[in-house]
Amino acid sequence: MRILIVEDETRIADFLQRGLRAEGHFPVVANDGESGLALALEGDFDLILLDMMLPGLHGREICQQLRMSKINTPLIILSAMDSLDDVIAGLRMGADDYMTKPFSFEELLARIETVMRRSSEVASEEQSLAVGSLSFDRDSLRFTVDGKEIKMTAKELAIIELLMSHPGTLFSRERILSNVWGMNMDPLTNVVDVYIGKLRKKIDGDRTDSIIETVRGLGYRLNL
Ligand code: CA
Repeated sequence: MRILIVEDETRIADFLQRGLRAEGHFPVVANDGESGLALALEGDFDLILLDMMLPGLHGREICQQLRMSKINTPLIILSAMDSLDDVIAGLRMGADDYMTKPFSFEELLARIETVMRRSSEVASEEQSLAVGSLSFDRDSLRFTVDGKEIKMTAKELAIIELLMSHPGTLFSRERILSNVWGMNMDPLTNVVDVYIGKLRKKIDGDRTDSIIETVRGLGYRLNL
């Protein structure tokens, strides 16, 4: 994993860097708050280890700015005991876990594992999906193509959400029926095809090749 270490104490930063490298990770160190935030904002890391008391910018502000910028990289606070208030503030602002210094490296590795496992579970239920020109927000149920909102019925949304959640995967009619209609048998109608037809009319616009591809005899998938 690419791990960003934001830590001003060289001794700790070096220790973390060496240990994480030995575990096969790719750590990058930022020694102050501003460069830490700038690097973290690039969103190019799998995990961030964040000290609280930092020159330039407080760890709490880094947390807050990241979450406000919708950077949801898993983040563990590494903090000295005396800044418990900061730890609590950090957790409220979206940190995933915290460890108080001094800590054991073994424990840090275990915490990293837990945070990563949790975050991969969350990622599978992302609030919004974006695939090619399509985007769907699960909270507002807003669906757009090229940024333009398209009104959908509940079933239409359920189908497109299913296809978007696994872009490129082929979905048989049976699988769509079971996911969207809760039916585990063939209803002997072409209801899926009818709905796919409706969806295409709404989302394809002027495209000659449909966004939803028919794989003859097998089912449908998003045409990316
Ligand atoms: Ca510090």
